Formats: sequence, C-alpha cells, structure tokens
Amino acid sequence: MSKTFQAIVVGAGPAGSSAALTVARAGLDVALVERGSFPGEKNMFGGVLHRLPSLEEIFPDFWDRAPLERHIMKKGVTFMTGDSSFNTIIEAGNFDKPPYNGYTIFRPRFDNWLAQEAVKAGATLITSATVDELVYKNGKLAGVTLVGRQGELLAPVVIAADGVLSFIAKKAGLRQPTFDPGQMAVGVKALIDMPREMIDDRFGLVREQGFANEFVGCTAGVRGGGFLYTNYDSLSIGLVFHLASLRTSGKTPYDLLNEFMEQPQVAKMVRGGRLQEYSAHVIPEGGYNMIPELTGDGILVTGDAAALCNATGVNLEGINLASHSGVLAGKAVIEAHKANDFSKRGLETFRKLMNDSFVIKDLKTCRKAPHMLHNDRIYNEYPELVCSLMESIYRIEGMPKENMTKLFLKVAKKKVGLANLAADAFSAWRSL
Ligand SMILES: Cc1cc2nc3c(=O)[nH]c(=O)nc-3n(C[C@H](O)[C@H](O)[C@H](O)COP(=O)(O)OP(=O)(O)OC[C@H]3O[C@@H](n4cnc5c(N)ncnc54)[C@H](O)[C@@H]3O)c2cc1C
Repeated sequence: MSKTFQAIVVGAGPAGSSAALTVARAGLDVALVERGSFPGEKNMFGGVLHRLPSLEEIFPDFWDRAPLERHIMKKGVTFMTGDSSFNTIIEAGNFDKPPYNGYTIFRPRFDNWLAQEAVKAGATLITSATVDELVYKNGKLAGVTLVGRQGELLAPVVIAADGVLSFIAKKAGLRQPTFDPGQMAVGVKALIDMPREMIDDRFGLVREQGFANEFVGCTAGVRGGGFLYTNYDSLSIGLVFHLASLRTSGKTPYDLLNEFMEQPQVAKMVRGGRLQEYSAHVIPEGGYNMIPELTGDGILVTGDAAALCNATGVNLEGINLASHSGVLAGKAVIEAHKANDFSKRGLETFRKLMNDSFVIKDLKTCRKAPHMLHNDRIYNEYPELVCSLMESIYRIEGMPKENMTKLFLKVAKKKVGLANLAADAFSAWRSL
C-alpha cells in the first residue's frame, strides 16, 4: 500500500491530534498515524489537564465538549517522614469557577476524543499502525513506512509527535541516539476505584470539585515525589522518580509505589478503594536544555518528542505544552504549503512561533529547575525539617516558649545545616 497526503503526523497523543486538527482545518489532506488500536489506548499520565489556549481558540466551547472529570479547586502538598506528615492546602475560590485552573482526565477518553475532532475536521486517522522508518526520495524526506501494514505513506512534510522516545526525531538526526537518564524520569500510577460519595467525604469536596495533592519525602530516598488526584469515582495515585537516581538505588518503582500506598498517611486516603490497574511511562524532565532541533528538512518535532515538558517540582505540565506545540507545527505546515517550501528554512515559522509562545518562554524561565531538583536534600532532609519544625511549634509542654526564629534556625541547623539551607534557598529562588 502506498498513499499520498499533504502532511503526515506520527502519533495521536495531544501533540499529534492538535497538529492534525490544525492542518485539516486549513483544508489540507493529512494522515494521523497511531500505533494503538485507538488514540490514547497506550497513553497514561498523572494527571491534570491545564489550560490549553490554542485549543480554546479553535473550539470556543472546548471545556464544555471535552471529556473531563473534576475541576481542581483544592491543591495541596504533603511533606512526609516515616510517621509524620505536614500538609499545606489551598482552596481558592477562583479555582472553583470558570475558567477553571485544570481538570483531571483519562487519557484513553481524552486522546480519542481529540483525535476524532481531527477526523471531523478532515484528517485521516490510521490506527494499529506503527511508523517504522522515514522514506527519502531524491535526497528529500518523502514519507514514512508502516510496520504491520506493509506499506508506506508519502507526504512532503512529517510532524513527529511520537512521544518521549521519538524514534522519528532520532532517525531524522534531530535528537541524540541515546538518552541521558539524568534528564529523564519515570512515573508509575495506580488507578483505584472508589465510590464518588466516599471521595467527596474523604477529601472535603462537593459538586464537581477535585483535589490534587503532591507528596515530598515519600520515595525512600530516591529523588522524586508522589501525587494523588481525584477523578469522579476513582483516585489516580503514583510516584515519579528521576531515572538516574532510581537506577542507582536498585529499587523497583512498583515496590516503592506499594510501600507508598501502605504508609499510614496514604493508606487512610485509599482505604475502601479497589485497585483497578497499574501503568507506567517515561517523562522528559531535562527542560529547556533538553530541547532538540525542532525542525529539519521536511520534518518538525512536537510535544514530548521535543522534550517539551515543564517539571518544576511545583507543577508538572506536559499536555498543554504538547498541544500548543502541535497547533504551532500545524500552522507552520500550512505556511510551508503556501510557499511550497518544506526545507528546514521553509519550516522556520515553527521555531519562530515556538520562541514567541508560553511553551519556550516558560521552559526558559524554569531552565534551572531540573538542576535544582537533583538535590537529594529536597527528598530527605527538608521533609524532616518541615515536620520537625511544625511538631515543635505545636508542642505545648508548660515550658517557656522559644523565639520562633531561634527555633527555626535550631531545627534547620540540625536537619540540613545553615550553609546548605542558604545555598538551597538561593538555588530555589534562581530556579523558580
Ligand atoms: C506519570 C506521569 C504524570 C504526568 N502528569 C502530567 C500532568 O499532570 N499534567 C500534564 O499536563 N502532563 C503530565 N504528564 C506529561 C504528559 O503526559 C506528556 O507531556 C504528554 O502526554 C505529551 O504528549 P505527546 O502528544 O507529545 O506524547 P504522547 O502523549 O506520549 O503521545 C504520543 C503518541 O504517539 C504514539 N506513537 C509513538 N510512537 C509511534 C510510532 N512509531 N508510530 C505511531 N504512533 C506512535 C503513541 O502511541 C502515543 O499515542 C505526565 C506524564 C507522566 C508519565
């Protein structure tokens, strides 16, 4: 089989479907190729879907139509040590009214819905089709080959939206052939079914309200953190680890996840639920310094394939960056068709649009965050400092009280050391 299109998009995740939708809306004949039997079948994330300015522009009623779960009105962080924890929670009134600050979603439903929107706009969706190789004719990129369907798809331009391991970007020579584990993380997640009323009562939620909680100090010394998000009638709970640190520890992610869920503070949250499934996925965490060449002759790279993930330790943003980059890649393809120039220079619009977008600007602003997050004290000493300090503040023993600053310095000196505290505060200030 050989079929010709005006553009090919590899991967029907948020980046790919956003790109295909944009290109199809301009009346171009675009193929959206997905290895899963349906878009989203193999995709997982934490996860919270954040605002998507480009899709909101394409569909003014996006948030009414997309398959969403709860809007996040309550956000918290839990600092944990073995038997103590300290929680900070914000319940912002503004997070409880539109435009909401984020929703929990299920990737199989969301990704499939977005891909079908691309199909409605005119894109040809080809599923159960893994792109294998790039096809070159007369020295120019001319399309892709498919595994399992024994054929090729031809087009003057290819958008690589095939996720974090992007074989396409590697084959086009735009990415390094090997990954640096220091720039990667791995996330493991358990989906736990729980009746809706139980979730509402347990987490203090009403109507469609949702809760997103992050955990620090819960990864048995491995650099990383935990998360718990409420869906309508299930909880997404998991851990994210820096790959290099996990490797050195010799521990397995699923053992660590089970240990996390058995800790008393967490066990209370998941009690009464029924484990439905486990899943895992890699995350590009290197930030701005990990971004490869975004364009080559006849090719553009988007989303996780271009390492467009912003993990600052405060939020984890990926889908919004992927989708926005997909729309901008689509716009660049439309321009390239108008000029009939698919060379790297003809596709330069993409790089320019990206440089002006929140995607590159945010990654640049937070470019020091990945380095800051490689500090082991964040995952061990600081949770202990916070829990120990709060315990001392709340302990009343009929003894004269210590001055608060002195108390803080005493605990900080014992747990972290004052020189480390000053250095870490400076590093955090520079990173965020
Ligand atoms: C544990 C975890 C928690 C996360 N939490 C959040 C969060 O809360 N909020 C957030 O915004 N982001 C989060 N992310 C990041 C987010 O999931 C990604 O940034 C986002 O999915 C990237 O979208 P994408 O379209 O670029 O890639 P993907 O979603 O990976 O999609 C790539 C698609 O390409 C397909 N594909 C791959 N190779 C081929 C091939 N050769 N041929 C055909 N098809 C192919 C795949 O099947 C897939 O459908 C999290 C990620 C993880 C792992």
